[in-house]
Amino acid sequence: MRTQVCIIGGGPSGLLLGQLLHRQGIETVILERKTKDYVLGRIRAGILERGTVGLMREAGVGARMDRECFVHDGTVISYGDDQFRIDFTEHTGSHVVVYGQTEMTRDLYEAREAVGALIVYEAEGVTIHGADSDAAHVTYVKDGTEHRIDCDFIAGCDGFHGVSRQAIPLSTRREYEKIYPFGWLGVLSETPPVHEELIYAGSERGFALCSMRNANLSRYYIQCSLSDSPSDWTDAAFWQELKRRIPGEHADALVTGPTIEKSIAPLRSFVTEPMRWGRLFLCGDAAHIVPPTGAKGLNTAASDVHYLYTGLTQHYQGDDEGLERYSERALARVWKAERFSWSMTNLLHRYPDMSPFDIKMQQADVAFLRSNTQAQSVLAQNYIGLPY
Ligand SMILES: Cc1cc2nc3c(=O)[nH]c(=O)nc-3n(C[C@H](O)[C@H](O)[C@H](O)COP(=O)(O)OP(=O)(O)OC[C@H]3O[C@@H](n4cnc5c(N)ncnc54)[C@H](O)[C@@H]3O)c2cc1C
Repeated sequence: MRTQVCIIGGGPSGLLLGQLLHRQGIETVILERKTKDYVLGRIRAGILERGTVGLMREAGVGARMDRECFVHDGTVISYGDDQFRIDFTEHTGSHVVVYGQTEMTRDLYEAREAVGALIVYEAEGVTIHGADSDAAHVTYVKDGTEHRIDCDFIAGCDGFHGVSRQAIPLSTRREYEKIYPFGWLGVLSETPPVHEELIYAGSERGFALCSMRNANLSRYYIQCSLSDSPSDWTDAAFWQELKRRIPGEHADALVTGPTIEKSIAPLRSFVTEPMRWGRLFLCGDAAHIVPPTGAKGLNTAASDVHYLYTGLTQHYQGDDEGLERYSERALARVWKAERFSWSMTNLLHRYPDMSPFDIKMQQADVAFLRSNTQAQSVLAQNYIGLPY
């Protein structure tokens, strides 16, 4: 088989890239290791920046999002019982929207199926060959038979545990990593959200986040120990701990109920450089990971897609500048998202080895943010998403 761009990974990065390229008349094949149901069942991100929203519309898949999303003009930050609001619209003239990654992925799958573009599910043993040559190709095994796809370019959209990043030789690749000494225990519950906007909560017992998917579906997280497992936490224990970490007013208003999903995610900051090797381009979690504080993971994947889609479109129009500068442009924005996610994590989490001095510094950081309009403006600009 031959195609113009072989996309490895059918998560949000690969699907969005495929749809944008399709609209430019560029042919793609997507190779996905799992089944469609498996990908759609992954409960992950829920906040979309304006740039991600714009890309969804540009890909022709924005209609349901525009109908069903919730616009958020601000967010609440709390520390113990004290709380304040950061007004995104006042500081930036813009906002974010709540629209689940599962919904975004579903819209993209449906659009791809509607145009009959190829996606191979349960593609095993995906291997990249000749990415640094003019004979790039990808092989994979489906139902016991090996297949080969010759292509102009390979987009490595296969997430943190994929094969694309590993295809870049260690002599070329440089990796930067920070592992945080805690995780997030997240639950989904069919209850109304405790507040109309997100609450990012710091407390002496650790971090908590009150988020949502819709008017009757709430997403809550609490910072937990890396040695915890979801089965250690009964629903009652989870709700009790969440209430202890958010201001009393919200704890009193919290509607609890059975949880329908419970999982623990470790927190990590990670970047690999460069994001291009010959004809291979890395996109999204394949190249970088952020802790979820600040909702940058999916949105940074989308900004990579923007740079790559623009570069590939220009290439087929005879201009290679966008591809030549892809890694540099994507990384410049990635590092700013890394900085923001890291600083939001430090602002609100309790590290096991924090000294009384460290805690005072954290409290002073929060107090400064509470009282300083410029500091709030900086947070708002980062939260709604830096320009591409
Ligand atoms: C628990 C959790 C919560 C999160 N919460 C948030 C949040 O609140 N806000 C936010 O912005 N971000 C969040 N993120 C991050 C966000 O989900 C990711 O940044 C986003 O999914 C990245 O999309 P991607 O397409 O680059 O990678 P992925 O979503 O990882 O998709 C990669 C795809 O490639 C496939 N694949 C992997 N290996 C191979 C292979 N060898 N061959 C073929 N296919 C392969 C995988 O099956 C997968 O479908 C969260 C992540 C997790 C894990």
